[in-house]
Amino acid sequence: MTHDGRRTAAAYPNPSSPAARAVMQGNRKTDTRPELTVRRALHAAGLRYRVNHAVTVQGVRVRPDVVFSWRKVAVFIDGCFWHGCPTHVTQPRANSDYWQQKLQRNRVRDNRTDALLRQAGWIVVRVWEHESSAAVTDLVKHALSDLDR
Ligand SMILES: [Zn+2]
Repeated sequence: MTHDGRRTAAAYPNPSSPAARAVMQGNRKTDTRPELTVRRALHAAGLRYRVNHAVTVQGVRVRPDVVFSWRKVAVFIDGCFWHGCPTHVTQPRANSDYWQQKLQRNRVRDNRTDALLRQAGWIVVRVWEHESSAAVTDLVKHALSDLDR
């Protein structure tokens, strides 16, 4: 209280919103890093791929993280946060309904993308960002060498 009785300590914004923002920023920052690590590992293994290459399936444009168009193999490296990794999912407590719906929408979209690509004869390799680049490289090599197609 000041001498005239007004409160000087104004109501501060709810600290949960800057906290939630920090989580999101942290995730955005690390979003591309696992992707780069995987790309480097694939390159080191002698695999040549396209990055940021849109694939159109039944009129729908999808953009896998790594594309081997010559073998129709599409690789997605999913961020643990945005795609709801069961091991690392941490939903901000604020607006939890909003986040639940957002993550659910992402999952639905991921499934639809996979289904579209598979129907068109693609092999989809979808991994979490927390998976080791060596493990991902093995999966990709396996997909590329699938000669039964
Ligand atoms: Zn994870």
